[in-house]
Amino acid sequence: MKDKQNRINRRNFLRTVGAAGLAPVAASLASAEEKVAPSSSIAAARPQKPKTPPIPLRRLGRSKVKVSSLCLGGNSNLIESQIILRKALESGVTYWDTGHNYAGGNSELGIGRFLTKNPEARKKLFIATKASYAKNVKETEERLQLSLKRLNTNYIDLYFGVHFMSEPEQLTDELRKWAIEAKKRKLIHLFAFSTHKNMARLLAHAAKLDWIDAIMTVYNFRLRQEPKMQAAVEACHKAGIALIAMKCQAAGPSAKWAKQDVEIETEADKKLVGYFEKKGFTQGQAKIKVVLQDKRFSSVCVGMDNMSLLNANIAAVKDKTKLSRADMQVFSEYARATCSGYCAGCADICDAALPEAPYVSDIMRYLMYYKSYGQHDEARRLFAKIPADVRNRLSNTDYTLAETRCPQHLPIRELVSEAIDKLA
Ligand code: SF4
Repeated sequence: MKDKQNRINRRNFLRTVGAAGLAPVAASLASAEEKVAPSSSIAAARPQKPKTPPIPLRRLGRSKVKVSSLCLGGNSNLIESQIILRKALESGVTYWDTGHNYAGGNSELGIGRFLTKNPEARKKLFIATKASYAKNVKETEERLQLSLKRLNTNYIDLYFGVHFMSEPEQLTDELRKWAIEAKKRKLIHLFAFSTHKNMARLLAHAAKLDWIDAIMTVYNFRLRQEPKMQAAVEACHKAGIALIAMKCQAAGPSAKWAKQDVEIETEADKKLVGYFEKKGFTQGQAKIKVVLQDKRFSSVCVGMDNMSLLNANIAAVKDKTKLSRADMQVFSEYARATCSGYCAGCADICDAALPEAPYVSDIMRYLMYYKSYGQHDEARRLFAKIPADVRNRLSNTDYTLAETRCPQHLPIRELVSEAIDKLA
């Protein structure tokens, strides 16, 4: 009886902040925000103590630092999202992730504006940013200096010296020395890299290095099934390297919209949504829970550009219910049924089959940004960075071998053609 009551309470809790009940929650938060007198102080804006448990904290690898297990992904114009930043801080989502290139600099500038108005917030926050597209340490240093300025801070808690790492050679000895120096100058506290492709190989490589503090990697209910990824995650964990998961919703180049409010397109989608709805979760909340159930991950970084999403994700990480073996099985079946809509980032495979056009996994990601995230300009900007000679060859390339070898059975030709239409 007591168990049943607990289940009902949890269901109500999640439903209150989940997809079904998000609109009223967002509205009430918005009106609460409006009622607060305009103030430059966080303390003044804090209306009352939270009634729900705090966001769980997790240790960041071998460091002594603990971070919120939900990280605010900031790849959007945060100048326009000050209310999201305030709500995140008040809710205990104190790990904020941004990047030099995010929203053309407006992500860092948005956090900087928040810190200018709320200087006392800095010590409560754990801020990460990235040296996007830096080609050498000179550019890394320049990006760091600009990030410090934009963020209006004297230090970065976690600095991603390599953003979008794709090859181990990017971790040069010169960069190692720079990282050590930047720590001595107290400009950065911890050094990291982020990766979207060849993740297992890169993680396995990093596990042998003693100067990498953390890695942000794509990780989700699909990749948790990959033996090579599992081995690499374990190696990093044993080496004390902190792991931060991103892209936990596992959106692919085929999905139209794959955030929390997923557009239900297939029978498999319907089944997944229906299954978790009965348990009181949205599918998006369940996908976050899958990742956080793996204690080797310190945090899950999720883009939350509206209050509904922020509240739903906060509810998901606060909820203590463990997903069962049967729940995991449902995810495995869903992953199998929908594999051809997801690019797993195993670029070594398609690159070997396409030496003349080794950009397929990037193109799949850009198409995902365009279709799933609605980031049209960003997707086009990234596509334009592919060398012109490769872009010109894309239409006439034979993708047969790559399609044969692709473990996800992606219709590569069709998707590249769609990318050319949308992004070129
Ligand atoms: S297209 Fe296929 S082989 Fe290439 S990275 Fe994506 S999943 Fe891997």
